[in-house]
Amino acid sequence: MICKIDHIGVAVTSLESALAFWADSLGLQVEGMETVESEQVKSAFLTVGESRIELLEPHGEGGAVARFLDKRGGGVHHVTFSVTDLDAALAHLRQREVRLVGEAPRVGAGGHRVAFLHPASCGGVLVELLERPALPCKPAAAPLAPGAAVLLYLRDPQEKQWGVLRSLDANGVVIEGVDLASFEDWIAQIERDEASVVGPSVVFVPTTRIEKILLDRSSGDLPSLAERFERRTGKSVQQVLGEGK
Ligand code: ZN
Repeated sequence: MICKIDHIGVAVTSLESALAFWADSLGLQVEGMETVESEQVKSAFLTVGESRIELLEPHGEGGAVARFLDKRGGGVHHVTFSVTDLDAALAHLRQREVRLVGEAPRVGAGGHRVAFLHPASCGGVLVELLERPALPCKPAAAPLAPGAAVLLYLRDPQEKQWGVLRSLDANGVVIEGVDLASFEDWIAQIERDEASVVGPSVVFVPTTRIEKILLDRSSGDLPSLAERFERRTGKSVQQVLGEGK
């Protein structure tokens, strides 16, 4: 139902001084500005990769953004997700007793149909849903992506490596892990909290040596190696290795 974060709305007292930071200092590109009479705001959109930041300055006296600024000062005002079918999304949310703000759907910035979900239903966050019927949701990222636990079968000589995939491209893969033969020893070592003997290493393997690369996942009743690792050590292999490498 939800495709991605379309934009994050930030309430500001002055677009001009806000742009000095967001556009000039951060270097984000201004995509457009418009006055949305129905919401009593002047807004500027800045592009950030596939998402955007929307700066909102009150236009006129009574709007929601003006009230927000009076009460809390500037800051994050709402988070907007794009959906392909707003009516279906709202029907689903009404069924789950999620409260909406005002009349929904209505027409918001850019002429899109939008609806707001009440912060009382969203852990204090004003959530906006914005319909982009023409933009189909992209499938989720490939499972064989950096950070995934994998089994790597190598040839010349034959070896099996188990660990966390760090990168994958036409030249080869980088894996951080251990030879499969050392899997049990590595776990035992972590269990006993010993210094590294079988310690994992970061290895680059050229494509020519890769026989196959498998996502390490459970099949039927058989747990994956990553699950066995986690059950025994109490930590995921990603935690043990450190996520950000
Ligand atoms: Zn918005």
